[in-house]
Amino acid sequence: MSTYNLPMLEVLNLWKSYNGHQAVKGLDLDVKRGEIFGLLGPNGAGKTTTLKIIVGLLRMDKGIVKIGGVDIFEQQYDYKKHVGYLPENPTLPEYLTAEEFLGYVAKIRDIPPNEIKERIDYHLNLFNLEKRRKDLIVTFSRGMKQKLALSAALIHEPSLLILDEPLIGIDPTGQHQIKIKLKEMVKEGRSVLVSTHMVDTAERLCDRVGIINNGRNVASGSLEKLRRIAEMGEDSTLEQIFLKLTEEAEEVVEEKPVRRRLFGLFRKRR
Ligand code: ATP
Repeated sequence: MSTYNLPMLEVLNLWKSYNGHQAVKGLDLDVKRGEIFGLLGPNGAGKTTTLKIIVGLLRMDKGIVKIGGVDIFEQQYDYKKHVGYLPENPTLPEYLTAEEFLGYVAKIRDIPPNEIKERIDYHLNLFNLEKRRKDLIVTFSRGMKQKLALSAALIHEPSLLILDEPLIGIDPTGQHQIKIKLKEMVKEGRSVLVSTHMVDTAERLCDRVGIINNGRNVASGSLEKLRRIAEMGEDSTLEQIFLKLTEEAEEVVEEKPVRRRLFGLFRKRR
């Protein structure tokens, strides 16, 4: 059966707790082929936890994650060939030069030896790091390190690129280059999942956005769909929609114990 029509990524009823603290509570999301999907939520909403589960850094308590139709629990290693990941705070081997580091990643990623130089040149040029190729990473600025880590995530041309807060610390030119690169990727039918708590990043980059709060889905869709869900006018910004929907979601969570208490009273009386 062809898997082309399946979403690139499906997350179903995902749960994760840390020492009794429930960080992700039944989260669902899907990323289609050829789209940039933004996971938008306040600090502590569960975004990084979700991404770490998808890339295999954390084990879920419950749920299903499928990449290209394959359940990652059943096939725990092979799928990683098709995934690129930029963590929130990438740690790079600072004792290597930029060129050495990308060469090392390219080898791990099984890129044919005769293509490695071309791919390194392409990525260093893409992010204006060409002049620094022979410099140790320890001499790089924060933004340069971020661009290098993104190059490492991209070098094997993954089908699914997962980015945790990719634009933090990147200058406007770099942000523009990243945006163009991601748009190019999705035109080729590949997919990008971007996690951010910055509304403008989601608005500028993403085709669809999933808003999460307290580890739960609040709403997801295009900006137009989110406006309809939030019952807001066509001039409303994603920031206004986000604030309204997350505030409403907080109210629902706060109301629940009251309802439970009333229900408990009612039961006792019977
Ligand atoms: P941010 O936007 O601040 O990066 P986030 O949406 O990525 O936040 P997570 O990092 O997934 O959120 O955290 C979700 C919840 O899980 C938070 O309450 C956080 O304190 C908790 N948490 C995350 N990692 C751990 C851990 N290793 N041990 C215990 N609790 C954790």
